[in-house]
Amino acid sequence: MTENGPLSRKLFAAAKEVIPGGVNSPVRAFRNVGGEPFFVRKAKGSRIEDVDGKTYIDYIGSWGPNILGHAPTVVTNTIHEVAKSGVSFGIPNPFEVEMARKVTDWVPSVQKVRMCNSGTEATMSAIRLARGFTKRDLIVKFDGCYHGHSDSLLVAAGSGALTHGEPDSAGVPSDFARNTIVLPYNDPEALEAVFKEKGELIAAIIVESYPANAGFVLPKPGYLDLLKSTCEAHGSLLIFDEVMTGFRLGKAGVQGLENLTPDLSCFGKVIGGGLPVGAFGGRADVMDMLAPDGPVYQAGTLSGNPLAMAAGLAQLKQLGGTDGLPNGYDRLDVLGAHFEKGLRGVMEARGIPHRINRVGSMFCLFFTDREIVNVDDVMKQDLELFKKLFWGCLDKGIYLAPSPYETGFLSLAHTEADLDDTVQVIDEVLKDI
Ligand code: PMP
Repeated sequence: MTENGPLSRKLFAAAKEVIPGGVNSPVRAFRNVGGEPFFVRKAKGSRIEDVDGKTYIDYIGSWGPNILGHAPTVVTNTIHEVAKSGVSFGIPNPFEVEMARKVTDWVPSVQKVRMCNSGTEATMSAIRLARGFTKRDLIVKFDGCYHGHSDSLLVAAGSGALTHGEPDSAGVPSDFARNTIVLPYNDPEALEAVFKEKGELIAAIIVESYPANAGFVLPKPGYLDLLKSTCEAHGSLLIFDEVMTGFRLGKAGVQGLENLTPDLSCFGKVIGGGLPVGAFGGRADVMDMLAPDGPVYQAGTLSGNPLAMAAGLAQLKQLGGTDGLPNGYDRLDVLGAHFEKGLRGVMEARGIPHRINRVGSMFCLFFTDREIVNVDDVMKQDLELFKKLFWGCLDKGIYLAPSPYETGFLSLAHTEADLDDTVQVIDEVLKDI
């Protein structure tokens, strides 16, 4: 473990007195790696600087939103400009229309979209909408997929494909959890069995389009198509949670890469340019069930906030290659491939059993030679080695995710030199271990 500088330590001690666990979101507490978080003073590009003046190359990017890097000028200038005209109105503003148009242009399955304030709100609202539309209560989710912290979705594995969910958090009534069926990911038989028994009662399948909250797990060929055809056959809706992958892996996210048309999709992170945002959208006939047109209630004081809309739009425009700019997704894939090659080289040269899952700018290194099919495989990797790598890298100014279950993110601000330096540090750390 690396000891933080004196200011970080002082701040964390003060934080623990007045904030539960000293943090406003649990993974920031560094519990999975057994240590304490540092506090950030500022961040720019690929670098963050802590309050004691130490800088790090950052591979988290605020857990996904900062795809252009930290504090990109296009986004910060936009926020400054827009804020001069007011920061919240609670009455429609033009940016909301432009954002909805952008999302529906880029993501063909989305005919209408509603903005909200977080990924949690997006998935919670999409579930309610699916239930209201189908007039059914049950939902299916997958073991290891995280969809935010609403009651219905805080349910992890039951012990066996057909068991009803147990809550994964104190405070979630088991009556709620009973309406959530948890299945193992990448297991067609389990899916078929549950739909055979209960298909007519299932409102929706919700799935992380590429699961990225238990490492980074990819679907087996044909698995996502099976989810789609199963939903179609039983009158259930398919909800793609693209909170992480949306606008990160391409203009149309995973559904664009896989050529799939979910009924509803959830977004967050990149779409807000680093400001609090979420969105859900999809088929117009389903979306029209929302209040005020329909009977499914959903609302938000700050939803469609002008700063968040404008910041998100500025980021998307820069990324997407509109207005004569180059397409950022191609560059992110070049960077991703460069980093993956470097990492593989180190692991192979040192004879360390490993798997690397990467798509575009999302990556995860696993210390195992098992094929990574679901969360069980992820848990069986060498977790101690992960911890040692994390602390060794942090010590040398490389900030990787403080948990073996998180995915890493590259940004357009990373350079090949950043990535080469990082690979070299990883090599040095592994040599010392
Ligand atoms: N869905 C997915 C796939 C996520 O990764 C997350 C957050 N990491 C959420 C939903 C919840 O988003 P938020 O933290 O903005 O509520």
